[in-house]
Amino acid sequence: ETEIIYCIGCGAEIQTQRPGELGYTPQSALDKGLETGEVYCQRCFRLRHYNEIQPVALTDDDFLRLLNELGQKDALIVNVVDIFDFNGSLIPGLHRFVGDNPVLMVGNKVDILPKSLKRGKMTQWMRERAHEMGLRPVDVLLTSAKKPQEMTELLAAIEKYREGRDVYVVGVTNVGKSTLINQIIKQTAGVKDLITTSRFPGTTLDKIEIPLEDGHFLIDTPGIIHREQMAHYLGVQDLKIVAPQKEVKPKVYQLNPEQTLFLGGLARFDFIQGKRSSFVTYVSNDVEIHRTKLANADAFYEKHVGGLLQPPRQDEVTDFPPLQRFEFSIKEKTDIVFAGLGWITITNPCVIAGWAPKGVAVLTRKALI
Ligand code: GDP
Repeated sequence: ETEIIYCIGCGAEIQTQRPGELGYTPQSALDKGLETGEVYCQRCFRLRHYNEIQPVALTDDDFLRLLNELGQKDALIVNVVDIFDFNGSLIPGLHRFVGDNPVLMVGNKVDILPKSLKRGKMTQWMRERAHEMGLRPVDVLLTSAKKPQEMTELLAAIEKYREGRDVYVVGVTNVGKSTLINQIIKQTAGVKDLITTSRFPGTTLDKIEIPLEDGHFLIDTPGIIHREQMAHYLGVQDLKIVAPQKEVKPKVYQLNPEQTLFLGGLARFDFIQGKRSSFVTYVSNDVEIHRTKLANADAFYEKHVGGLLQPPRQDEVTDFPPLQRFEFSIKEKTDIVFAGLGWITITNPCVIAGWAPKGVAVLTRKALI
């Protein structure tokens, strides 16, 4: 039987082969649904029965279609970004897709940034970075999807800027968009009436609509995967170590040239040339940092990766991509960013190299702190 079946919640084409993608339903659930005549994708099923939104990822093509749709709406666009992985959470070209619609930029996971970082400084920095990309947000604010008390300001800002229109929430995967939407659902309508009607099957992408008071909706959209993030090379256990769960404690290292820092076995920082100075690391407190001589660093990694230098764990070492080297000449206060892992702040002019598993981005940016 090859008949195409659509989710009666979101209209996505039902498939049983690719968990985590649009329209996925386990075969057993599909069979059951066909008996009762009500087939939901797993995502809508969870929402209906557990009041819970699951993250879902789109292919690049589908995501482009979604972005194109946004430009044709009259709506407020809420762009959720992860402030711990800011570069990894930007949507390339978003400003071209949103048309004339206002964009509210929301920096999530503020709970893990060091308390020493002033909120105003952070939002100003985000605004500057957004402008560099051609995006002009009507406002930039910070939140933590894990903290109910952080929703007040966000909900007020959404109310203020939507001016009676619909709201589309967009973001790449892992920024915490699902957690945020779930928090909003808890604090607003509740979910009872969320999925009641079937729409025209197949014409709309997987979108979750939360009713607002004036008959408009807040619409969750699927995220797109940023493949250059560290997360894609790690197992679940390692992810727990690498993704900070609580406030990141900066660590200061006084380094001489020709010294190396290892961030677990995941990344490496070489101070190649310059005068003795301090370097500050911002990574999860659970990632151990080791210092060694640059001249010994290759051999040190070879010997200790999977042991002293973790993650990756011993049994993951063979599948772990080799570290790839990027060299930078630093002129002013700069962060070297290891996508999804964290960053190191460099204060004085020098020559450095950053290493990360092949496929993971290493880049520099104007220092955040
Ligand atoms: P999505 O792919 O954007 O929908 O992201 P998820 O909602 O699935 O969240 C990705 C990861 O970030 C999960 O491990 C969440 O627990 C975590 N997370 C989400 N929001 C926050 C937050 O405000 N603070 C912290 N520390 N972690 C968060």
